[in-house]
Amino acid sequence: MFDKILIANRGEIALRVIRACREMGIASVAVHSTADADAMHVRMADETICIGPASSTDSYLSFPAIISACEVTGAQAIHPGYGFLSENARFVQIVEDHGLTFIGPKAEHIRVMGDKITAKETMKNLGVPCVPGSEGGVPDLETAQKLGEEMGYPVIIKATAGGGGRGMKVANSAAEMERAFQTARSEGKAAFGNDEVYIEKYLTTPRHIEIQVFGDGKGNAVHLGERDCSLQRRHQKVLEEAPGPIITEEERARIGKICADAVAEIGYAGAGTIEFLYENGEFYFIEMNTRLQVEHPVTEAIFGVDLVREQIRVAAGQPLSFSQDDLTIQGHAIEARINAEKLPNFAPSPGKITQYHAPGGLGVRMDSALYQGYKIPPYYDSLIGKLIVHGRDREEALARLDRALGELIVDGVDTTIPLFRMLLENEDVRRGDYNIHWLEHWLEATFGQA
Ligand code: ADP
Repeated sequence: MFDKILIANRGEIALRVIRACREMGIASVAVHSTADADAMHVRMADETICIGPASSTDSYLSFPAIISACEVTGAQAIHPGYGFLSENARFVQIVEDHGLTFIGPKAEHIRVMGDKITAKETMKNLGVPCVPGSEGGVPDLETAQKLGEEMGYPVIIKATAGGGGRGMKVANSAAEMERAFQTARSEGKAAFGNDEVYIEKYLTTPRHIEIQVFGDGKGNAVHLGERDCSLQRRHQKVLEEAPGPIITEEERARIGKICADAVAEIGYAGAGTIEFLYENGEFYFIEMNTRLQVEHPVTEAIFGVDLVREQIRVAAGQPLSFSQDDLTIQGHAIEARINAEKLPNFAPSPGKITQYHAPGGLGVRMDSALYQGYKIPPYYDSLIGKLIVHGRDREEALARLDRALGELIVDGVDTTIPLFRMLLENEDVRRGDYNIHWLEHWLEATFGQA
């Protein structure tokens, strides 16, 4: 096992990893930019090192800064959290070239899944059901238009290198194709340096269902059921729950096995999430994330496992600490993403926290790096906390979420807390009756803008 792990991240996820390290008796190293000198992850780690200026390109994303931080502190392994370098195959290669361990999958698997066309091709060959669409990339507008006619509109044009909801455009008709095709291409080029695009049938009322998988890197893998992350705004998740309100035990077992077998087959190591759209009882693969997800705590809650601990164990060459048969679902969990954003347009709201009080009590977990007096810098993501509740069933989890939101105090900046209180009063949300478009329609109806 490692003696010391460096966490190449910030915010709540850096705390999450520090906590796992501490329980395992492993020393932790926090890295930080100059803007984060007073951040909670810096206060909580065993050792800290400044790796550059506020701009993440020169700090949290800088290969040389992070590798030298390992050399200076003697850390043997790097946990990347999510975002930043967590899905950067080149970085993983460099980490390994320096004799360090990346806590995550092999570079090769990150590369394959990071290119959506290759990922889809690979998954299809492994027997995973996919959204109907083009065979590989679509080279020009003419081909795109021909495909649109054949498949029938609406279709979605996606940049193969896309992520975070960028590089995706819907075309509802042949007339819309030209613009959508060019926009997806130029967004892909501008944001990811790659203008290759592909086309998929656009599903009109799907839910977003993702399967958590875990591989030991030696050909064994398990699944930890699904999360329903259908409540989204601009393709970004807002609230997640597990298990999915409408997924049956049979469906879970079937799709879970397909996913576990697929990752076992390729010798996948560590945590991964296989994302699907789910419509009329069918699952359609959209992408695989080769890292820990923001919403991993809902899975931890219902299975009673520590996914970060498991990532560290697997990276150190140890076997998985649970088998498929050990994994049974207990109750229901929901996560609300608390962002420093001002409603109704979700404008970032950085600034000083004048008062902070985290909720507590049975079945409540607050993952946040906030503290009273903390100044949220304007340079990074607006996620400031995740409130996760666990109950014996969905109804209890909903009541608990409402109760915990009532206890949560974040003063000094605008947050998305009021959004959740409003959502909890909605009948569709209470029944779990929503799809990926529901939230935007509701925002439009409630605030006149989505
Ligand atoms: P990203 O990598 O940018 O997150 P994804 O491929 O995971 O992109 O898709 C993100 C979201 O976009 C999905 O959760 C869903 O809301 C929507 N989406 C993607 N593909 C389709 C599709 N074929 N039909 C309908 N919606 C889609």
